[in-house]
Amino acid sequence: MDNNIHPIFDRLLGRSEKENYLNQKSKVLWFTGLSGSGKSTIAQGLEKLLFSEGYFIQVLDGDNTRTGLNNNIGFSLEDRQENIRRIAEVSKLFADSGIICLNSFVSPTIAIRNMARTIIGDDDFIEIYVNTPLHICEQRDVKGLYAKARAGELKGFTGIDSPFEPPQQPDLELLTENLTVEEGVRKVFNFVLPKITRT
Ligand code: ADP
Repeated sequence: MDNNIHPIFDRLLGRSEKENYLNQKSKVLWFTGLSGSGKSTIAQGLEKLLFSEGYFIQVLDGDNTRTGLNNNIGFSLEDRQENIRRIAEVSKLFADSGIICLNSFVSPTIAIRNMARTIIGDDDFIEIYVNTPLHICEQRDVKGLYAKARAGELKGFTGIDSPFEPPQQPDLELLTENLTVEEGVRKVFNFVLPKITRT
């Protein structure tokens, strides 16, 4: 056989074959914002909605990554960078499998999010800024972390004694103060639908 001809079963299946199989285009939706801003709540609501519409999705957040893949990583700036580097590499693998990733991570600095964008690729990375004022996140205090940070029991907490740099040009911004959860989910859904749908 001619050595230049490689039958398709000789190599891994490509992304487009997997996207065809799943009847979707894969993207990585990157939710950034303060702790308690609503990233996970919106990502989880969106997962259900997309799934009910026939899309195949993976949600990545602190809960399912810091317990396993990243269980040896803390919250120093260096560690946050390594945390996000691994998440971005994993997301890229999911995207290469045709799967849509919904990632909710504080990812507090422009440099950290730029690193994620570089790893994942400009075409696949969709930055969604869940913009909720600090005082509201603090009021919600879903996990009691703000109280601990204010009491000095938790060092380097984003928004309290560690910076959050808002995205300068997010693909989408959600001002959750003026939205219900359902409205927030619907907004992201409407925004991404044309990007994940095969034409
Ligand atoms: P994060 O993932 O950003 O740390 P969570 O999603 O865990 O935040 O927590 C956000 C909290 O805020 C949830 O308890 C959620 O019910 C509440 N919440 C109230 N209004 C909204 C809204 N419009 N969008 C998202 N979350 C909201």
